[in-house]
Amino acid sequence: MSAFPLPPGSVIGILGGGQLGRMLAQAAARLGFDVAVLEREHDAPAGRVAAHAIEGAYDDPAALKSLADVSDVVTFEFENVPAASVAKLAELGAQVAPGPRALAVAQDRFEEKTFLNANGAPTVAFAPADSPEAAVEAVARIGAPALMKTRREGYDGKGQRWVEHASDAARAFAELGGRPVIVEAPAEFVRELSVIAARGRDGATAVYPLAENHHEHGILRRSLAPAHASPALTEQAERIARRILQGLDYVGVIGIELFELKDGRLLVNEIAPRVHNTGHWTQDGCEVDQFEQHIRAVAGWPLGPTAATARVEMLNLLGDEVDGWKRFAAEPETRIHLYGKRDAKPGRKMGHVNKVKPL
Ligand code: AMP
Repeated sequence: MSAFPLPPGSVIGILGGGQLGRMLAQAAARLGFDVAVLEREHDAPAGRVAAHAIEGAYDDPAALKSLADVSDVVTFEFENVPAASVAKLAELGAQVAPGPRALAVAQDRFEEKTFLNANGAPTVAFAPADSPEAAVEAVARIGAPALMKTRREGYDGKGQRWVEHASDAARAFAELGGRPVIVEAPAEFVRELSVIAARGRDGATAVYPLAENHHEHGILRRSLAPAHASPALTEQAERIARRILQGLDYVGVIGIELFELKDGRLLVNEIAPRVHNTGHWTQDGCEVDQFEQHIRAVAGWPLGPTAATARVEMLNLLGDEVDGWKRFAAEPETRIHLYGKRDAKPGRKMGHVNKVKPL
């Protein structure tokens, strides 16, 4: 068993080899850690910057054993880690952070909203359904129009359908694969915001300034941060973040997506138990960025300061937009973060830029 705080030279294991894992690995390296990445694909963005790249499925017992053997702590860069893999890692003696409760809550939209409401974090009204008849009843109860989402495995707006009338509910349920769903009331939001927050092994918490987020076709296009926000709105976001972190007995960085309503109230849309795309601005706009913060937290180090040092517009580079790197490189206000992905498929997150202005 590792003793915390982990000293430099220890190994941080990361389940998942995408861009979030890559930027976590880069932050870990800055603090003197080595990184082991477990990823299915050869040549993954994170594996290419890690000391140990282990190839295998996330539920491959031999690959999990290699990861557990080499790592002093194991974390992950995506939330759909099979629960059995986390149990296996624990059985192999690995310390896993964030823990299985955070994963279980974030993997299922019904569990998530139930947890949030029970912990004083408000959401839209919702109802679960696991049959076409129950779906019709759920839409009737919540009121149409309503948004039907699969309980598990939706991301970037995938796995959801608007239902205009209760009579359309059974068809929407079938179109979503006949899997368990939740039906949500529409949030009449004026802005989509997010807050990135962290909790250390000692229970200390740190909350970043709010970001304002703009999506296109369900994919994050840009974030503006720090978002213009009244002290009351900021305080509300911080209160929500701390309640969630404490309710999950969380260790690490969490991303919390919020809807701001006309009357100034915040509702939580969803939580991601990991570093988050809407927190990329912190790399060039905050004292300690979300990636270093996550490594500090899981390694048992004190959390770093989260204050903004600049105003940032973060733009995701999707597909062949990454070919604009020459233009971005010539802009003095632009910081470039490319993920080293070989294949620029349409809509794929290839990199991002942070356009930085003084506060
Ligand atoms: P999600 O996959 O839950 O993050 O949802 C993707 C996007 O759909 C959000 O960023 C919102 O723009 C929109 N959305 C999700 N849930 C609701 C809701 N209950 N009411 C209105 N819009 C929503």
